[in-house]
Amino acid sequence: MNIVVHGHEPLLSEMAVKAAEDPELIKLAKQKGAEGINLAGICCTASEILMRHGIPVAGNFLQQELAIVTGAVELMMVDVQCIMPALQEAASCFHTKLVTTSPKARFPGVTHVEFSLENAYAVTKEIIRMGIENFSFRNKERVNIPKEEMDLVAGFSKEVVFQILGGRYRSTYRPLNDAIISGRLRGLAGVVGCNNPKQTHDYFHTVLVKELIKHDVLVLQTGCSAIACAKQGLLIPEAAKQYAGKGLQEICEAVGIPPVLHLGACVDNSRILTAAAHIIEEGGLGEDLSDIPAAGCAPEWMSEKAITIGFYFVASGVYTIFGASPFATLGSKNLTDYLTKEIEDIVGGRFDFCDDPLKMAKLMLAHIDKKREALKLKPAMYQ
Ligand code: SF4
Repeated sequence: MNIVVHGHEPLLSEMAVKAAEDPELIKLAKQKGAEGINLAGICCTASEILMRHGIPVAGNFLQQELAIVTGAVELMMVDVQCIMPALQEAASCFHTKLVTTSPKARFPGVTHVEFSLENAYAVTKEIIRMGIENFSFRNKERVNIPKEEMDLVAGFSKEVVFQILGGRYRSTYRPLNDAIISGRLRGLAGVVGCNNPKQTHDYFHTVLVKELIKHDVLVLQTGCSAIACAKQGLLIPEAAKQYAGKGLQEICEAVGIPPVLHLGACVDNSRILTAAAHIIEEGGLGEDLSDIPAAGCAPEWMSEKAITIGFYFVASGVYTIFGASPFATLGSKNLTDYLTKEIEDIVGGRFDFCDDPLKMAKLMLAHIDKKREALKLKPAMYQ
């Protein structure tokens, strides 16, 4: 039987992982005729349980309804953000039970079981038990699970990046800095954020990321963007040979990493900036985050939270492109000039807007090259 966790609260998904392994609940599931309890994740919760427990991802933002229409989901538990308002309508066409858990996000006609720190495990067990009880209502004739699967490597916390680059006994960012300084690596890009229903699903993420790695840019990812690229097979070491430029290929082969690194959920974007801070600490690439040959992008953003995270990146000194739809500020020339030009003199980073993934890549590469020049680094080794 299948339970899907969807949303953003790491604690709820953590409890769900524990409850899905609870012998009492597994016994109950078997009594009901199931083989066991299978947990899968949607959206950023998917990345949380993937990073910490290696639990497979069911999909990103635009796949939440598709998970339900497999007819094989007994229960979907949701918390906050990115829960489609019509999810219950999709669930009501099947036997799937939808359960809300946060007082901040309830839906008409949906079962609500409130989750809190005090009752975390007991409540999660109760929810999983509801899913088990629902298994007998599954209509086997309506089950249609897609066969497509893709491997991925995830779990690149800033500590792991240290160890992978420098080895377990000499953890260091030095090899990464040296690769950028020598030009084998042209620079770094953070490609993050949502799916946007205005775009073909995953198109902007995958076209942009393929173009960046082709030009020897190591890509760091989080959130639904990482899941989009994972589905395309970009998060396995073998992807370097197929898609990356020669310099990035050499690094991926030497270190054994994919050309695109999955750093977590969209609530983990700070990991990208922490890694950037370590690069500055290591030395040789300037004094400030804005000096690093790096750029950021949220190609298909749709959540308000993406704007907040964008401000965090820009304020930290990162040139950050937003795709899909521009901010609703473009009516004001003064504010738009401030966000896309003048703010750079104050904080080192700025916003840009672009609605074409290949143009986004061009803008990011031009920015990376400008930063290389400012640091008086040699041009990229394999241009
Ligand atoms: S990346 Fe965007 S769409 Fe995906 S879960 Fe996070 S906020 Fe939602």
